[in-house]
Amino acid sequence: MTQFTVGQASITRIEETYLPVYRPRDIFPEYSDEIAAEHAHWMAPHHYDPDKDLIKLSVHSWLLKVGSKNILIDCCCGNNKVRPARPFWNMLNTPYLDRIAAAGARPQDIDYVMCTHLHHDHVGWNTQMRDGSWVPTFPNARYVISKPDFDYYQKLDAAPNAEPVEFGTFRECVLPIVEGGRADLVTGPLRLNEFLEILPAPGHSAGHVVFKLESGSAKAVFIGDVLHHLLQVYYPHWNFPKNSDAEQARVSRRHVLEHCASSGALMLPGHVGAPFAGHIEATAKGFVPRFDP
Ligand SMILES: [Zn+2]
Repeated sequence: MTQFTVGQASITRIEETYLPVYRPRDIFPEYSDEIAAEHAHWMAPHHYDPDKDLIKLSVHSWLLKVGSKNILIDCCCGNNKVRPARPFWNMLNTPYLDRIAAAGARPQDIDYVMCTHLHHDHVGWNTQMRDGSWVPTFPNARYVISKPDFDYYQKLDAAPNAEPVEFGTFRECVLPIVEGGRADLVTGPLRLNEFLEILPAPGHSAGHVVFKLESGSAKAVFIGDVLHHLLQVYYPHWNFPKNSDAEQARVSRRHVLEHCASSGALMLPGHVGAPFAGHIEATAKGFVPRFDP
């Protein structure tokens, strides 16, 4: 179990999947043999599978315990969600809830679920199937959801003749929460409590947000999908596919990297491989990840 301590806060990674999934060139058109050679010394085995020529991505949540609250940040794909367009995450059946329990929180102990954005791999466990319908997985939680993201997907989903957006995610994992009165639709910047602040970081999705944590002089940032792979620290202009606004995604990435480098904040991304979180250093050549095990 991977854990980090930030001041009074403890942060545990809750794994759903951690797999080699995409060819680097399919994701990053700028990837070349020269770049592969330059970064080979740190890419394998945690960020790249050389035998398969596939980059590795983790799908995980962060369980944040701070100020006597249990806060689940991003909640993966979920079990039993039909996602044939995403075969690695289709109809999962993982012991995710057992892993949260092993980290010290049962579903009823979660006070807040906070989603950086509404893509299928960040809201899946918002709901689970019970007696034929999707119901909130965490019965006592308030679900903190970005209003700009909600508005964006609601409009798309309601368009005449539209397919269910995001493979049905909006209808299965978001609407049951909002219609059940369990959601706090928020627009950043917004201070949630003495430890946490919600800040807009749009581009990967229209309303993508990051969560800044401060406890005493210790700082961290849960950055969701502002970046997916540590190659994007070296090459901040490299976008992962599927952005609502590619240029805005680059601006948000650079902003977050600058913040982490200047403040010393621990960066906690949504999909980066082991050790899953680390620091950013600004050097004369550009940003360098310090994600040392
Ligand atoms: Zn994601």
